[in-house]
Amino acid sequence: MFMAVESTLPTPVRTPASDKDAKALQFIEEMTKNVDSVQERVLREILGRNAETEYLKRFSLNGATDRETFKSRIPVVTYEDIQPEIQRIANGDKSPIFSVHPISEFLTSSGTSAGERKLMPTIHEELDRRQLLYSLLMPVMNLYVPGLDKGKGLYFLFVKAETKTPGGLLARPVLTSYYNSDHFKTRPYDPFNVYTSPNEAILCVDSFQSMYAQMLCGLIMRDEVRRVGAVFASGLLRAIHFLQNNWKQLAHDIATGTLNPKITDAPVRECMRKILKPNPELAQLVTIECYEENWECIIKRIWPRTKYLDVIVTGAMAQYIPTLEYYSGGLPMACTMYASSECYFGLNLNPMCKPSEVTYTIMPNMAYFEFLPHGSSTSCLVDLADVEVGKEYELILTIYAGLGRYRVGDILRVTGFHNAAPQFLFIRRKNVLLSIESDKTDEAELQNAIENASLLLKEFNTSVVEYTSYADTKQIPGHYVIYWELLVKDSAIAPTNDVLNRCCLQMEESLNSVYRQSRVADNSIGPLEIRVVENGTFEELMDYAISRGASINQYKVPRCVSFTPIMELLNSRVVSKHFSPDLPHWTPERRR
Ligand code: AMP
Repeated sequence: MFMAVESTLPTPVRTPASDKDAKALQFIEEMTKNVDSVQERVLREILGRNAETEYLKRFSLNGATDRETFKSRIPVVTYEDIQPEIQRIANGDKSPIFSVHPISEFLTSSGTSAGERKLMPTIHEELDRRQLLYSLLMPVMNLYVPGLDKGKGLYFLFVKAETKTPGGLLARPVLTSYYNSDHFKTRPYDPFNVYTSPNEAILCVDSFQSMYAQMLCGLIMRDEVRRVGAVFASGLLRAIHFLQNNWKQLAHDIATGTLNPKITDAPVRECMRKILKPNPELAQLVTIECYEENWECIIKRIWPRTKYLDVIVTGAMAQYIPTLEYYSGGLPMACTMYASSECYFGLNLNPMCKPSEVTYTIMPNMAYFEFLPHGSSTSCLVDLADVEVGKEYELILTIYAGLGRYRVGDILRVTGFHNAAPQFLFIRRKNVLLSIESDKTDEAELQNAIENASLLLKEFNTSVVEYTSYADTKQIPGHYVIYWELLVKDSAIAPTNDVLNRCCLQMEESLNSVYRQSRVADNSIGPLEIRVVENGTFEELMDYAISRGASINQYKVPRCVSFTPIMELLNSRVVSKHFSPDLPHWTPERRR
């Protein structure tokens, strides 16, 4: 549906834009030249300060801070392995379990365990480390795109709901923590990093009001906007979709200088009062551009001085590249950093490269990194400085907040080196079947959801004989599509449309809390759809796979599909389509 547009990439300027930039670039050079010694120091610091923690004592580290002892005594763990300790911290145990520094809060990862977001303990000083990584991004970008100090960045940034654990610690996503920190709220003025969105709009927890105010500011300051972005591609597309749905009201506000009464948040109203002035000319321009049926190039049309999009389009976000190209008219897409709740890992030193060529350079000062060659046993971990070009690895982390040898679940491939620092292509997150934005649904969760939904079919003497799934991101918001082949044993009492709609909702109720939050609070995932296919469709699918060389003995139904011929086959056999009629249950509180 979308035409790929050739990007016109700016040529690197290659001189630091300021003394501050020169210092930041110098820091990157030092870190990347001395990867191994920095890593040795980081491990020494982490183990030295945490020597008296329950966790390190349990493995008889006895104060050792060298790699060899560490590697021989500390096991590689998953979240589930350390969940009992995490639960104790959540319940209020303040003893030094992982870290001698007090746990300041929990960061809620988009990765889940038993349906709930994982809780990552963090310490206050981690904010400085995150800030440090952020401070390196613009100096690199300024090498490639000159003149960013002459304008502003239109970034759609959001906070999410916060909760408290039984022991009273805050639990919230890492970006919500960062945007609420003084590091962000009282950041010093930097001409290269001026946002159109006021802090009040970013910090408003109501996602509609926050987006509305941020979009309104972006429109009002249209002439100043030099870059447009969001954290992930899905977020930027959500903003475009929001504009599609709300441009009339936004244009009205701009024309009259009055704010939509749906914006009730007092700090947002107060700051918009200062920014919003009647501007009928701008309102007319917005109306003319948005009134058009064709939204191709809308970003360039509304913000004509935009030089690039700042969004992550690697990993699961790659599915959005064609849509973003369509809306932006082929603007370059910069993926600047690679990070997680546990740790901010590194940055892209060539941010204007094509999305398929994006590599991230892990900064060795952020944590101690080890790499498990893909498919090998956990006894063969390799150090950051020793990874080999062309090989794939799973990332293993040891962080200052104390998580030791923790499996993040990301698979990375080494493509080359910057100085002595390896550069990694993000390959995929392990065990993720379906993803629309930050949700990550694995095969077991999907299976469980199918089983729960099919209970509703029992009284109709019907069962699900086969299924597969597809993340449909052609429309915004994207949604999960589940293909079902049913065995209806008594056609006189076949399940009705209403029952199958309820099956959709039942599946949603069974999916993890990140999925349900995206559905309910963020509106970033649309209603789940079940497509019932003709009997025999999955056998045809198998015939097709075998005709392409799959072994009959080893054939397994793919539980997620995206390959066009398979999609065409499935879609040509659809007999009925059903959608979730309601929102699933979600509150910020954890269920367990
Ligand atoms: P969370 O723990 O919710 O912050 O999610 C972190 C995960 O998001 C990482 O472990 C990656 O799987 C994914 N991620 C973060 N940054 C990137 C990136 N630049 N490209 C691809 N995936 C990313």
